Amino acid sequence: MNPGPTARTRLFALLGDPVGHSLSPVFQNAALRAAGINAVYVALRCSTDALPCLLRGIAEAGGGGNVTVPHKEVALRAVDRLGDAARRTGACNAFGFSDGAVWGDNTDVEGVRGALRALPGSSAAGMRVLVVGAGGAARAAVCALLDDGAAEIMVVNRSADRARRLAAQFDHPPSLKIAERVPADTYDLAVNATSLGLRAGDPLPLGPDVRAGAALDLVYTPEETRWVRGMRADGVPAADGHEMLLQQGAAAFRLWFQREPPLDVMRRALGVGA
Ligand code: NAP
Repeated sequence: MNPGPTARTRLFALLGDPVGHSLSPVFQNAALRAAGINAVYVALRCSTDALPCLLRGIAEAGGGGNVTVPHKEVALRAVDRLGDAARRTGACNAFGFSDGAVWGDNTDVEGVRGALRALPGSSAAGMRVLVVGAGGAARAAVCALLDDGAAEIMVVNRSADRARRLAAQFDHPPSLKIAERVPADTYDLAVNATSLGLRAGDPLPLGPDVRAGAALDLVYTPEETRWVRGMRADGVPAADGHEMLLQQGAAAFRLWFQREPPLDVMRRALGVGA
């Protein structure tokens, strides 16, 4: 039986605004219980001003956590030591404390990589990929796709300036291209890294003139997103953002506790198919 929090319980928290919809406490607490770790994971809504103090205080007290919209860039500047993925993407979504310093990293990159492994082909090596969006999720996707060895990554965003900043963040590698409009073309993989699909009335992120061999939606909703449903109905293998959510959480668990997370337990708690 779980004895509940004690004087030795460590605190892990998701910091963001809003956080009330988050599934992270559900699957992280299931993982902590299964692994027999005396810690709790909560979601704390906080302002940008409060973020640095809150993050550092939790970490220095022996805990850690995650950071979500809109604080991933502020978090980057609040930590003492950055992991490679956080430096490359310019965003921090996981933090903790080790060797006398508060560290920050970006496990969304590993989240995208894990989600790609669940699609046919298991990686984007050699693929032509279309990424719609240029925010934090898109930067994590581009980082994972570059690491996977995608042959071409075409980034399209509503605001062209943000797409240009994304390309600059990665020092304009030759395989990364940006366009103002989605070119009518055929891609091996299309990735939705916009927030389109979160709300029921949202338009689809891509029109019917774009064809893709596989689809990865980073958005997740209680039911599969309309885009994923449509792609599957057309016979295209497609995954929504649940697998990325699970995999970024698993990567954070590894960083916090230096051990393998109970992935099956986390998967069941999230209700994601194996
Ligand atoms: P963000 O930094 O705020 O970026 C939002 C992106 O969506 C921007 O590219 C924005 O374009 C675009 N966008 C928003 N409304 C649009 C519209 N009406 N038409 C066209 N484009 C629109 O957010 P983010 O952190 O990248 O997250 C994006 C989504 O990814 C989130 O909504 C979330 O659902 C998902 N996500 C999932 C996970 C996961 O674990 N599965 C992790 C992180 C994020 P502009 O630049 O033009 O505004």
